[in-house]
Parts: sequence; structure tokens; C-alpha cells
Amino acid sequence: MDFRLSEDQLMFKKMFADFCTNEVRPRGEQIDQTEQPPVDLLQKAVDQGFWAALVPEEMDGAGLDTYTYMLMLEELARADLSTALILSVHNSLVVKPLLDHGTDDQKDRYLEALAFGQMLGAFALTEPAAGSDGGALQTTAMPDGEDYLLKGTKIWVSNGELAGLFLVFARAPEGITAFLVERDTPGLKVGYREKTLGLRGVPCNTLYFDLARVPQANRLGREGHGLKIAQQALDLSRLGIAAIALGGSERALEEAVKFSIEHIQFGTPIAQKQAIYDYIADAKAQIEALRCLITYAAWLADSQQNFGQYASIAKLFGSRTAYQVTHKMLQVHGGYGYMKEYAIERYYRDCRALEIIEGTSQIQQFLIARDVYQAEGLKIRP
Ligand SMILES: Cc1cc2nc3c(=O)[nH]c(=O)nc-3n(C[C@H](O)[C@H](O)[C@H](O)COP(=O)(O)OP(=O)(O)OC[C@H]3O[C@@H](n4cnc5c(N)ncnc54)[C@H](O)[C@@H]3O)c2cc1C
Repeated sequence: MDFRLSEDQLMFKKMFADFCTNEVRPRGEQIDQTEQPPVDLLQKAVDQGFWAALVPEEMDGAGLDTYTYMLMLEELARADLSTALILSVHNSLVVKPLLDHGTDDQKDRYLEALAFGQMLGAFALTEPAAGSDGGALQTTAMPDGEDYLLKGTKIWVSNGELAGLFLVFARAPEGITAFLVERDTPGLKVGYREKTLGLRGVPCNTLYFDLARVPQANRLGREGHGLKIAQQALDLSRLGIAAIALGGSERALEEAVKFSIEHIQFGTPIAQKQAIYDYIADAKAQIEALRCLITYAAWLADSQQNFGQYASIAKLFGSRTAYQVTHKMLQVHGGYGYMKEYAIERYYRDCRALEIIEGTSQIQQFLIARDVYQAEGLKIRP
């Protein structure tokens, strides 16, 4: 077993770290406070290959393996969680399903624009009555000549108001089906942007489909295969959320260590108090355990093995780790941690979303338990 990074992985890690430290990190506070997505920063990220992370080299992409892609998300999250989530949704939930299920024509029409900064991707599954239960979605896709007409409402679509291409799930005659929907499709309206606790640089919008006309040529995969496509994309994106949780937890630890060395009470830095260094030790232990989980799940993915259960385990453990670590690292800061001047306040709010997005912790628990019981011959239901 060899845990060392290859020369290529080291090179990418350094490139990600340089960009994230120099360009992304200094912008985190401003992105949060203005609630504006970092459009110029995202454009700069195009040149570094962040939009084309998973696109094969022969198509002029970065061609990252899963593990190196996780390093990218970790570095982004360490610098700013909003930027990390925007690029994670784009790569894991739009570019990857297009690569896996797209026709040659669909790849010809969209891949270059997605990879090189002309079109950001967004993923539209959730509806008011279909959150954890994606199979209950009510948006319909009725065939009409060479097209489908989409009707319904999607909520909380990350990247909504920035996106050029939406991967939309709707109910067609043969069942739930995936569609590539361009932003200027007649009948599609990008609506209300939510106010959120954290991740305030990620525009999270409602989409209205009022008989939006989508050509059959934009159906991704077969009719009725939409949930399989979503599930496969969510396996990768959940592992990505674990990597974002890792980066967020590392940043929280870094901020708390720095603060505890500088901050004096009772005549010594608080780093000398056992209650404080116990917190630091626990956080470090959780972070390193999470890194091992992500490494293992990514190795499964890169060796073409089923990694879905480990993606769920990594997401469950990772999002909890980020929640617990940011909570404790804020406590290390005392009252300063409650003030907007300190980055830990932002990380505490941003990381809270990780237990909810792309499948809640309770749904990950169900998926993990389902596999455990399945091995014993018992089928459990959500
Ligand atoms: C910031 C943010 C960004 C998002 N971005 C996107 C996006 O880009 N695209 C998209 O499609 N969606 C997006 N979502 C939606 C997200 O995927 C859903 O919020 C999530 O899947 C949970 O659905 P829900 O919120 O409707 O909760 P519900 O499903 O209504 O669940 C409510 C509570 O009940 C629990 N629960 C539900 N069913 C079960 C069960 N069977 N067993 C045990 N507990 C259960 C849940 O865990 C939760 O605690 C986003 C959400 C947020 C907050």
C-alpha cells in the first residue's frame, strides 16, 4: 500500500494550493458579506483547469483522477466554501454525467463551453414536494413532435442565476428522465434567489418551467433512466462534499491554532490550556480519519470499483466532522469567534449546509444501513 502522491498529483496539488491561497482565500470574506458569487474569480479558475477538471486530456481537459479531483475541492474549500461548492456542482453534477451519458452530439455542443468558461452547470432535482424522496418529483416532460415540453418548479438550484446549462429531472412517459436545458430555453424562467445561512456566494434559485420546449436531442440517456443518472452523479458529488468538509475543517483548525497561540488569558496563550489543546487534538484526529476515508473511496472509484457506499460513509462522517470541528474551533475563539471579523464565524455557517445538501445525513444513514442489511438478505425502506 502506497499513500504517496504521484508526481502529477503533487504538481496539481501545488497548482491548486497556489491559486486558492493567492486568489480565492483573500476573497472569502467579501464573497460572504456581499452575497455575490465570485464571477471574475471563476473566470480566472478556467485558465487553471478548474472547470475542466474531469474532462479527459484528449479533449483538452485536466483529466484528473477522482483522488486528484478531491484534492482540488479540498484546497478550494480551505480557501472559500462557496467557490468550492460552485465548482463541485459544475464538475460532479453536470460535466461528469454529460461525459458518462452524453451522445457525441451533446458532447460536441456543450463540453467545450462547460470546460472553458462559457457555460456554468447547475443540477435541478429538488422540488417543493420532492427533497430526500427525489422519485416523488412532479415536473413533467410531455413529448411534442421532436421536442419535450417541461412543466413544473425546481427549488434551491445552486448556481441557478449563473448557469448556462441545467441538468433537469422530469417525469416523461417512461419515467423520470434527465434533460440538458439551456438557460435561454423559451418557457424557462430563473426565479427567486434564496437568502441562506451560509454559502452566501452560491446563488440558490427557483426554476420555473412553463411548457419549456426542450429538443429530444437534449435528453440525457434513455427515458426512465433519470434517477440512475442522478444517483451515479450524486455518488461522486457526495465524495466531493466530504472533500469540501475536509478543506473546511482544516481551515477551521488552522484559524483556531493561530488564535490560540496569539490569545493570552491568565498570563499564557490559551494554547497552553488543556481544554483548548484537547479540542485541537480531537479536531486533528477527526480530520486525518476523514482524509483516510476519502482516500479509500477515491481509490475504489479510480480502480473502477463500486464506491457508492463509501461515498455515503465519507459524506456522513465528513459533514459531521466539519460541523463538530467548526463548532469547537469557534469555541476556541471565545467571543471573537462570534464576530464577523474572524473567518471561523463564516466557516461555522458555511459548513452547516454539508449535512443537508446532496442528500441529508439521515439519507446517507439509510443508504449505508440498506447495504448492511442487504448483505443479510433483509430489504429496508426509507
Ligand atoms: C444550500 C443548498 C443548496 C442546494 N442545492 C441544490 C441543487 O443544486 N440542486 C438540487 O436539486 N437540490 C439542491 N438542494 C436541495 C437539497 O438536496 C435538499 O435540501 C436535500 O436533499 C433534503 O431535502 P429537503 O430539504 O426537501 O428535506 P426533506 O426531504 O423534506 O427532509 C426533512 C428532514 O426529514 C429527514 N428525512 C426525510 N426522509 C427521511 C427518511 N426516509 N428517513 C429519515 N429521515 C428522513 C431529512 O433527513 C431531514 O432531516 C440544496 C439545498 C440547500 C440547503
